[in-house]
Amino acid sequence: MSRAGVLTSIVLVGLAAAGVAAQRGPRIPPTGKIMPVKGNLYVIHGAGGNTTVFVASTGVVLVDTKLANNGDAIMSQVKTVTDKPVSMIINTHTHPDHNGSNDYFKDARATVEVVTHENTRKWVEANPQSKPAMKPDKTFADTLTLGKGKDQIDLYWFGAAHTNGDAFVVFKALRAMCVGDVMAWKMAPLIDPATGGSVIALPDTLEKAVKEIKNVDTVIEGHGDVNTWAGFRDYTRFNRALLDAAKAGLGKKTPEDIAATLKPQFPEFTKEVLLTDLEYGGTPLSRAVINVNVAFQELRGEPVTTNFGPPRAGGPGRGGAETPPPGR
Ligand SMILES: [Zn+2]
Repeated sequence: MSRAGVLTSIVLVGLAAAGVAAQRGPRIPPTGKIMPVKGNLYVIHGAGGNTTVFVASTGVVLVDTKLANNGDAIMSQVKTVTDKPVSMIINTHTHPDHNGSNDYFKDARATVEVVTHENTRKWVEANPQSKPAMKPDKTFADTLTLGKGKDQIDLYWFGAAHTNGDAFVVFKALRAMCVGDVMAWKMAPLIDPATGGSVIALPDTLEKAVKEIKNVDTVIEGHGDVNTWAGFRDYTRFNRALLDAAKAGLGKKTPEDIAATLKPQFPEFTKEVLLTDLEYGGTPLSRAVINVNVAFQELRGEPVTTNFGPPRAGGPGRGGAETPPPGR
């Protein structure tokens, strides 16, 4: 399948899978009401990834712009808190539920600057379905500081995780950061092999972030609620424990058995409930099972066939949906 098809299926296949899991039709909640996070920082849930709104002195900085055709809905929420125009968009990664409405803001104001990690630029350019407004005007490699004083934003990159272009976006004065889909819905992340994601690299990347990012206490996930630095640290430990358990159990235990061993220490990340408004696939536990499978594939040097839905019934060692669903 083409890369464009893979990228699109991240959203579409997952939506279908979530619908199956919940025994109801796929549901994407619409763009929600703007919610205060702290000070001049807000978040808008729904319609794809979270959009973070930072009202700086020279204009509004958006982190991620949801699925396509949500620009108007985002802008009308922004207007409830400020009259300033949008001046910059930072995309945490390449997926179309995070940069889908960039074009609305670029069309309204050509000077809007789009900033991403340099690997994200490569994925955007490689995808024939990308719109011109998804292409960054500015990229960074390891770190980049934008603005100063109370407007300062520090961007960091620490390696592969959900993709290999995941940016950590820190609002220094507010002690807050956005982590994109490196952490979403308080469960193990989707790993997108088509854009360089890796379960093996993930704990290293998270541990570097924990070590090198200072003075943050609020963490805005890529989807779902706002978390804390302590929650982010626990999540880092969970993803390390998942990889360690997968390594120890490779060839001996099923992914289900391995994921179950993580339950006593990490109840939050191994819940067996389908989360409300989840846009793609399964429970936290089923996501952990999927990521143990991905770890197995990466450890064996096999192509990763992660999918974005809930695990399927299967024989020992096969419960984590190793095979992509039809249409991928
Ligand atoms: Zn994503």
